[in-house]
Amino acid sequence: MKRLRWLACVLAVGLVACEPTPSRDAANGDPPALPEETLPAETPSVERFPHREAFFGDLHVHTSFSTDAFFYGNRVGPRDAWRFARGEAVRLPTGIVAQLAVPLDFAAITDHAEGFDRIGICTDPDHALYGSPTCEETRNPKETLDAFFARVLTRAIEWPRPRSPALCADLDVCVDAARPMWRRTQLAADEFDRPGEFTALIGYEFTGLVTGAGMLHRNVLFRNAHVTEHAISAVDVVNQADFLRRLDAACELPCEVLTIPHNTNYSWGLAFAPTDLDGSEYTDADLERRAGIDRLAEVTQRKGSSECQIGVGAADEDCDLGLIFPPCAADGETRCVRETSFVRDALLDGIALKSQRRANPFKLGMIGSTDTHQSDPGNTDARRHSRFAHAMESPESAREVLAGTHPAAGPWRRLSEGGLAGVWAEANTREDIFDALWRREAFGTSGSRLRIRFFAGDLPADIGARDDALEMAYARGVPMGGDLESAAPPTFWVWAAQDPAAATLDRIQVIKGWVEGDAHHHRLWDVVCSAGRVPGEDGRCLPSPATVDTATCDRHDGVGAAELEATFTDPAFQPDQHAFYYVRVMENPSCRWTTWFANGAGVPPPDDVPLTVRNRGWSSPIWREP
Ligand SMILES: [Zn+2]
Repeated sequence: MKRLRWLACVLAVGLVACEPTPSRDAANGDPPALPEETLPAETPSVERFPHREAFFGDLHVHTSFSTDAFFYGNRVGPRDAWRFARGEAVRLPTGIVAQLAVPLDFAAITDHAEGFDRIGICTDPDHALYGSPTCEETRNPKETLDAFFARVLTRAIEWPRPRSPALCADLDVCVDAARPMWRRTQLAADEFDRPGEFTALIGYEFTGLVTGAGMLHRNVLFRNAHVTEHAISAVDVVNQADFLRRLDAACELPCEVLTIPHNTNYSWGLAFAPTDLDGSEYTDADLERRAGIDRLAEVTQRKGSSECQIGVGAADEDCDLGLIFPPCAADGETRCVRETSFVRDALLDGIALKSQRRANPFKLGMIGSTDTHQSDPGNTDARRHSRFAHAMESPESAREVLAGTHPAAGPWRRLSEGGLAGVWAEANTREDIFDALWRREAFGTSGSRLRIRFFAGDLPADIGARDDALEMAYARGVPMGGDLESAAPPTFWVWAAQDPAAATLDRIQVIKGWVEGDAHHHRLWDVVCSAGRVPGEDGRCLPSPATVDTATCDRHDGVGAAELEATFTDPAFQPDQHAFYYVRVMENPSCRWTTWFANGAGVPPPDDVPLTVRNRGWSSPIWREP
């Protein structure tokens, strides 16, 4: 949206002095080149991949800097979380020492900025309010977690979100306490960032709350060390449009920012609603700004998935992962989902909006992440369940975990291990990872490191067999996240590779969405399947023959594929039709974490969640915008 500001400057020439700053254009792919002085210094040791490499990360991580995590007893701060992300063994808040089997390539630590003031005051023994009853209660809560959440989640739904009356009677005290926490967040990331080896993005979480413990949350990620002076949070703004306006205004080049909405499944449909949470209308400028900042959505994490839900605008049986809430039955109802809770429907609404307004505010790529509150980025292995490993000492404590309840999210057993974010980037540096996210050359997984390539354009049907396949795909097509410029019917090329530590691949699906008048449509094709299955006339394959022995969690998935690849053409492609296409890669079934956990502890698995899960990955869409 800097481009808009530049236009405004041109119009106002003579009234305001302003430099025409080159900027990212929300409407099309790659950002224009930055001015000389802001280009990252060329580091000879950084390996570059001209056809881009898959890097895996976690963009949603909480540590002791988050009030809720601190209240849970988490005293493990960002520096240890960075060590964990880079593959070191770290003692987690449960007392268990844990380590990733494979280090992450990148991460962002995204603590709740709304609590920076309280954590700053109550963890600084030299602060005048350190001994206050509020700080005593923060450090040694007598209140139960349920009571804490009930209090916070009912009181904090006003926008701007109220600050602690006891600590912030003098507002400056809280503003002054929050700033060093934001600075420490930045310094920790700077300390662990290693261009070419590991990318530590600077970020935080914006945590807006609505009635019924509902969430309008976004993670805020910066391209480099030039960040906003203040972590603009829900204590500062009156609604979503106000947040994006302030963020955009505060982040001037060389600061660059993007935001990632998450837990839209907990928004009661407000996340992608046509109006803001207070009912106010979005202006065209609001929509354009949103298109330029909300670049991706987090489709999966511990508190469920937000791609689609059977019976809520979607019919396909694979919209079955991480469903937490039932459909809403009435207006104003909460603790339920609407079509505007889900990314697939938002993509459709975005197309419809683009035809009526100037911008598509829901042109969203897809990633997964964990939303861990245990300072353990990327800890998604269902077998390791280190979050609850301490509870496996006795069948009694194991049963308590399976029966227990997350104070805000409901039964623990219904939550998942969380997902990961994948990007195709030319190098593992802050700028390259951010740019891949920005252009949406990104994908999400429900926990494994399966890789997905997705291109569309003037591609030969045998592209997958060619030595120059990637060179050709980039030259003659667009990758995930991009726009199909040509009206010629495109050939789609899909490729996926298994995570060797996870289940084999079952199939690759293409999901298309389009709008005709007021009617929203989507269609799903199985494009290529493993085990010799071929899609039938209905575009679907038979179910996978792979099985899991749930007593031992041994997989019999040798019939699945380590790699799948195919080209595909849309039999109903219309050059003047505004549409999106994205890929979903299905793994063969494996034990759900609850089954691993119950088997390990020698207790029966819970009977109200599935024994197995079909993990998966999602590409960002490719759009045809006539
Ligand atoms: Zn979070």
